[in-house]
Amino acid sequence: MTIADDINPISPMGLTLAAYQEHCTAVGIGRGKAKEAYKAILCDGQMESLPAKIEMPAVVTRQEEPGDEGITIKFVQRLPNPEHRLADRGIDFDDIESVIIPMIGRSKRKTHTLCVSSQVGCALGCDFCETAQMGLIRSLTAAEIVAQWWAAKFIEGVHIDNIVFMGMGEPMDNLDEVLLAIECLTDHNGANIPMASITISTVGRVDGLERIKELVQVRGWKRLGLALSLNASNDEVRSKLMPINKKWNMQALQDILLELREVRGGRKIMIEYVLIPGVNDADEHAIELAAWMQPFSKDPTREKGKGHGGLLNIIPYNPRRDSPWPAPTEEQTDQFVTRLMKLGLFVNRRRTKGRDSMAACGQLGTAEIRKRKFVPMTSNNQGLDAK
Ligand code: SAH
Repeated sequence: MTIADDINPISPMGLTLAAYQEHCTAVGIGRGKAKEAYKAILCDGQMESLPAKIEMPAVVTRQEEPGDEGITIKFVQRLPNPEHRLADRGIDFDDIESVIIPMIGRSKRKTHTLCVSSQVGCALGCDFCETAQMGLIRSLTAAEIVAQWWAAKFIEGVHIDNIVFMGMGEPMDNLDEVLLAIECLTDHNGANIPMASITISTVGRVDGLERIKELVQVRGWKRLGLALSLNASNDEVRSKLMPINKKWNMQALQDILLELREVRGGRKIMIEYVLIPGVNDADEHAIELAAWMQPFSKDPTREKGKGHGGLLNIIPYNPRRDSPWPAPTEEQTDQFVTRLMKLGLFVNRRRTKGRDSMAACGQLGTAEIRKRKFVPMTSNNQGLDAK
């Protein structure tokens, strides 16, 4: 889009202040005025403060689920998209889901983590994940990613402490826009979220992790949080669950993570492990996992006080629709966690939040699109209500 196309007013969503000022000066608006307008939208939550004006996608669904640490809120924003691939069946929009998760920390302070989507659907086909069942519809723009934060903060009215890219999509399949969104979210004149409070979670695209490695050398980016969805203890199981493992296997992942640890001054990388009964929860899996994690526990490059090189996060599997596997029982999860701890690992057990509203990990997928699975792929739209 040329600047002339969106002259007056100009949306600052998805732009850093510096970029916004550039857009403004190009059309004769001073830098001071631009800054004022930028802050009105991103710090004060106004929708219009000329020359800035934003349009917020409508929130079409909102679900609350109370839990021990507070209320988990899932909200769905509807983005108009006339080119949607189901437009011929009357669906000409994209729904994206975000989840606000309350957490009470060790110091008893309550914080809120926003889980954002980076794509509508996902191309990676992980067998256990609901979003994967949709396939990829499209990637989101930086503006659409930042708008999820804006909606959480100014529509839901929740102060957001942390942001995790663990919603729909694979952030590394959309890395340019994800990185731009992070630049905006960390802008001191805007959302002002600390870099260390933002985490990208990936299936393990090594090329993307290489790019992060380069970026880490740039001021500010060293603190960006990283999470890897490992989900298995050997290549055989991992390749079955996650097709991406055929391209980059567990050895390749270990190599790049060790390189990253070096350039990130020993900052820990979160290793996520979705525990699926009968698939990856046996004793031998715990032993293999401990062996894979081993190089991360001894950390010669660690900066003082910087904890472990690798931190294991065990996530009890949340059954997707038509799941062949059940959720693990409390005992099964406890047993696996205890086993890992005995093997000397530092383990965090993630409490499941939002499972009833299909807002838990790996349960995000647009209701409208899900219906696709129940209709024959014909061009008439009869089947759409057939669910
Ligand atoms: N594509 C990215 C981010 C989205 S998934 C990634 O793979 O990391 C965010 C996390 O949810 C990942 O760790 C993923 O393994 C986990 N997850 C996916 N499906 C799940 C399910 N059904 N139950 C529990 N966790 C799941």
